[in-house]
Amino acid sequence: MNLCNNGKLLCDLRKSKGMTQKQVAEKLGVLPKTVSKWETGHGFPDTSLLADLAKILGVSIDTLLSGALSPNAEEVGNFRKIRFYVCPHCGSIMHGMGEFHITCCGKQLAPLKASEDNTGHKISVERIENDFYITIDHEMSKEHYISFVSYVSCDRVLTVKLYPEQDSSARFPVLYGGKLYYYCSRHGLFEYDERKKFHVMSRG
Ligand SMILES: [Zn+2]
Ligand SMILES: [Zn+2]
Repeated sequence: MNLCNNGKLLCDLRKSKGMTQKQVAEKLGVLPKTVSKWETGHGFPDTSLLADLAKILGVSIDTLLSGALSPNAEEVGNFRKIRFYVCPHCGSIMHGMGEFHITCCGKQLAPLKASEDNTGHKISVERIENDFYITIDHEMSKEHYISFVSYVSCDRVLTVKLYPEQDSSARFPVLYGGKLYYYCSRHGLFEYDERKKFHVMSRG
């Protein structure tokens, strides 16, 4: 067990929940100092606290023990289920999890299939303080532009709508892990598949 990894994970998970060390400590009935020690790798929660801590952070005990999010568990939970819909008539954008029917402008919409971007668009992900700056190298003319960028993490979906003649960039708060999607008005939905890289950057 590498306590540094475990501590880093605890810290990332806590932040992704928007909680302070004090809040976690209070819920567990320990001192904030204790949580700080865990997060800096100078100790690990007692077994008696693990179940509660896992619940607070929304992961399994195994995940806390492993010090990394399992690629088949929490981290990909929502990425697999997310569906995006764009109405070809009015351009409305909708998304949701799981199977359901969406109708717009009198027509039922089919979920978009995200593909890997082989068009050579360059995407840069830059971390500035607590935000990611996403920039996509793509034209932004009325005929052909990136119309939205979505950042899907394990427990939320953030979408930034873009318009022609604007920059093709978006800013998101840093969440733990996550995956990017963006939609080109001509070529459809793409997923940013360099997840590992994105992931590493997300851990600062
Ligand atoms: Zn519509
Ligand atoms: Zn395009």
